[in-house]
Amino acid sequence: MALDKSLLETIEKSLQNEQVRLEAEILQLRQEVLENTDTQEVLVSNHPAEVASGFSDSERDSAIVDALSQQLSEVEKALNRIKEGTYGYCEKCGAFIGEERLMAIPHASLCLTCKTKEESTRHH
Ligand SMILES: [Zn+2]
Repeated sequence: MALDKSLLETIEKSLQNEQVRLEAEILQLRQEVLENTDTQEVLVSNHPAEVASGFSDSERDSAIVDALSQQLSEVEKALNRIKEGTYGYCEKCGAFIGEERLMAIPHASLCLTCKTKEESTRHH
């Protein structure tokens, strides 16, 4: 294994903490969305002009929930990779991602080369 066992355990622990934190945050936001839906949705639907003027609170919260869910799934995938013993290797090219990068971004699934490539293609 390319990763030091104690380092891997440290990373696993921080991923688990991140997982718990994200789950709690998502749960809280989802509840806010539900509460907002109960009180506002009926009013809003009678005023299409106001809906068009911008995001309502519940829409903004939903967007945040989506972003957090995305993060959570990356954290969960990283934890699965630790279990499977494939953690630390690039999903695209199979190269070792590198301890420094993994410590900075524990849920990283791509090496820096592939990540850079992916980001540059996404912008075009
Ligand atoms: Zn790669």
